[in-house]
Amino acid sequence: MPDYSSASYEPASRVSRIKSSPSVAAAARVRELKAEGRTIIDLTVGEPDFDTPEHIKAAAVAAIEAGETKYTSVTGTPALQSAILGRLERHTGISYGKNEITLGGGAKQVIFLALMATLDAGDEVIIPAPYWVSYPDMVLANEGTPLIVPCGGDTGFKLTPEALRGAITPQSKWLILNTPSNPTGAVYSRDELAALAGVLEEFPQLLVLTDEIYDEINFCRERIASLVEVAPALKDRILLVNGVSKAYAMTGWRIGYAAGPAPVVAAINKLQSQMSSCPSSVSQAAAAAALSGDQSFVSESVEVYRGRRDTAVAGLNAVDGLSCSAADGAFYTWVNCSGVIGKTTPAGTTIRNDEDFTLYLLDAASVAVIQGSAYGLEPYFRISFATDLDTIQSAVVAIDKAVRALS
Ligand code: PMP
Repeated sequence: MPDYSSASYEPASRVSRIKSSPSVAAAARVRELKAEGRTIIDLTVGEPDFDTPEHIKAAAVAAIEAGETKYTSVTGTPALQSAILGRLERHTGISYGKNEITLGGGAKQVIFLALMATLDAGDEVIIPAPYWVSYPDMVLANEGTPLIVPCGGDTGFKLTPEALRGAITPQSKWLILNTPSNPTGAVYSRDELAALAGVLEEFPQLLVLTDEIYDEINFCRERIASLVEVAPALKDRILLVNGVSKAYAMTGWRIGYAAGPAPVVAAINKLQSQMSSCPSSVSQAAAAAALSGDQSFVSESVEVYRGRRDTAVAGLNAVDGLSCSAADGAFYTWVNCSGVIGKTTPAGTTIRNDEDFTLYLLDAASVAVIQGSAYGLEPYFRISFATDLDTIQSAVVAIDKAVRALS
């Protein structure tokens, strides 16, 4: 008899090195509590609460009816390719070639593939903190070493040229820049990008991944600038990542894309050809309609987000011990909770850190938010205002009541 007793169910080391996404875990926890019958005010969700606009859904239905239900090229349908190239040119003024763009099942998959396609063991990736929760784990999963650079409130939670210079080593492969930022909503101005570009010019080995997935959720008067348009000389070192999830309320359609150096794009496409062949053909038709069709949904939804942001910021600043400012972009408020650390709950436990505080809020106020430590900076928490105004208002009332109960 063959011996099957030694089968190992231990995950591979690349899996053991990483954790599941904290935001996905938070959403799962909320679902569990709701299933137990609790009413939870959920401010964890990083996705628009709006429905996908009708003309986008109609394009998907038309694609299904026209039989566009087969594999496409790894690099996407001609319609989506030209929609992506058109959008890139409108926003950056740069015309990319077809060999310089790629796409995948969400920006998340594109970023993962970009790292998989380029990192060797020991390569470092510079990640300013607070960061989107997935960057460090994606780097670790692909054998790289995340190099976290703390960026505090004094610099608006943004990377400065000095901090960038101090982080670069001979092993540095990538810098990841996220503007507008998840979780802070911070937006890099053209001048700030130009200053970073000045440092990047001195280190030609460094590639830059600019994650611009929130660039349409913009509360500034000016369009949000991309590093590549501020520093076109660096074009062959910048991988610009974007997608349709946030701007067009299309998180479930799973289409993201990137534009950048042809060799990196070719390596991503090679991996994609072995990983998924191509993203869903129907979703591609919808994404093409989103990027090249009527854009009024974008500006209308941003005005709704603006009202929610202002309500959240005013309400939270009125809570003793919490402080925050109105972000320039994305749909998050990043709240400093240093004023509640060290306080005691009615049950007699001490709030030692932001995680304790978010657990207390869930327990005492039935409000779900995500602790700052998940994003690499304490003591903060993130709320998403991609939810209706009533929910935001009742969350603020419940948080205020829970904070008042602390001693
Ligand atoms: N980057 C950032 C900063 C994000 O917040 C998200 C979504 N939470 C993504 C990328 C991925 O977006 P998607 O995969 O839906 O395109």
